[in-house]
Amino acid sequence: MLHPPHQSLQVAAVPQQRVPVGDRDQDAPWHTEAVCRRDEAGLFFAPSKEPTAARLAREAAAKRVCARCPVMVECREHALLQPEPYGVWGGLTAAERRVVLARRRRREVELKKAARAVAAAG
Ligand code: SF4
Repeated sequence: MLHPPHQSLQVAAVPQQRVPVGDRDQDAPWHTEAVCRRDEAGLFFAPSKEPTAARLAREAAAKRVCARCPVMVECREHALLQPEPYGVWGGLTAAERRVVLARRRRREVELKKAARAVAAAG
């Protein structure tokens, strides 16, 4: 797992997977514009033994931060591609990312099946 963007991306060696968005500096790594770079409230990662209600409230607060982040798309894709196993990234919790990844895998399988069917039909 790489360092999370929320605190240590300033020093982390994160792959520069960037998707051009708007007027952003296209030469800068996406995480330089992360609004969570200084997560002083500790919103993005669970402390140990966090009660469920507290976790849900913390994750909702983290998602509100993500919703106003200019690099949400890049962050989400980074977390899905790694994949990042913990924390809120790109507005998704780890559980939500697992669901997205499972959907992508199912879709890939369906597309391969469809391609084979088309090829077999000649
Ligand atoms: S989308 Fe959320 S987790 Fe990702 S960089 Fe922005 S604020 Fe941080």
